[in-house]
Amino acid sequence: MNNDQNNEKEKFEQKTYPTNLINQEIGLPNSTISGEARTIVVTSGKGGVGKTTATANLGMSIARLGYRVALIDADIGLRNLDLLLGLENRILYTAMDILEGQCRLDQALIRDKRWKNLSLLSISKNRQRYNVTRKNMENLVKSICSLGYHFILIDCPAGIDVGFINAISPAEEALIVTTPEITAIRDADRVAGLLEANGIYNAKLLVNRVRPDMIQRNDMMSVKDVQEMLGIPLLGAIPEDNHVIISTNRGEPLVLKKKLTLSGIAFENAARRLIGKQDYFIDLTTPYKGIFQKVQDIIFGA
Ligand code: ADP
Ligand code: MG
Repeated sequence: MNNDQNNEKEKFEQKTYPTNLINQEIGLPNSTISGEARTIVVTSGKGGVGKTTATANLGMSIARLGYRVALIDADIGLRNLDLLLGLENRILYTAMDILEGQCRLDQALIRDKRWKNLSLLSISKNRQRYNVTRKNMENLVKSICSLGYHFILIDCPAGIDVGFINAISPAEEALIVTTPEITAIRDADRVAGLLEANGIYNAKLLVNRVRPDMIQRNDMMSVKDVQEMLGIPLLGAIPEDNHVIISTNRGEPLVLKKKLTLSGIAFENAARRLIGKQDYFIDLTTPYKGIFQKVQDIIFGA
């Protein structure tokens, strides 16, 4: 390697491995970066059930808990994770540009303004330029891991075609999102089977758009019913909440709100369970009781 190449390599490494710097910025000791990253694909089968909403909010929540998180938007054409995070104007490069040699990984990994330990990588801006293979996806995730990230969440496209297979191939864990509707549950079941067939045995369930009032009237399946039908361990349940739509339009994840809404609390709760920091579920009918009860239990003994 000549001098010029060496300089280039050095510059690349300085740019690509800012782990220590980022850890300093977020007050994380450098020793916490050791260990493998957890790569989790957020999937559903049926579209529109809340995969992107879940990826944005869980990712932001885990980042706020001090971990380094990379989100991958594998939903090409219908890309919208950038909008939910308010990062749409900052994307200059995508993974396609990396694969075509137009940019480096660190140029396509967009760091969130608010939480610098949260980054976003979009696979492609449009369908015409979508030509990613499973190997490409696996290599991209490996490169992100080597940057010292703790969590990589992949927002999966709807359906079970090539985009789905590509999105799940680098993942070791899956989060299956469903609503309490029979069509979504059936698709979730199908996806669970496909995940197992592809070697992903560690799957958890997120039930979204739950309406306690409808459950009480027997007009909607309960979270427990959904969980029992699918037989997948429950990570959390998110209520139907207009604030989800408002936060999408504002590009500000719910979990960033100073005064958390019910859905925000539910996402935080799910994020804490995902990192293994919490072992109880909030009660969607009286959410504060769950937390209050926990504090009381700690103070007065269960
Ligand atoms: P997917 O990525 O699975 O296609 P999205 O996350 O884009 O689904 O959500 C689809 C739509 O449903 C969006 O308009 C979103 O704002 C809305 N939505 C998702 N979760 C909820 C919820 N808990 N309450 C109300 N609206 C929701
Ligand atoms: Mg989506």
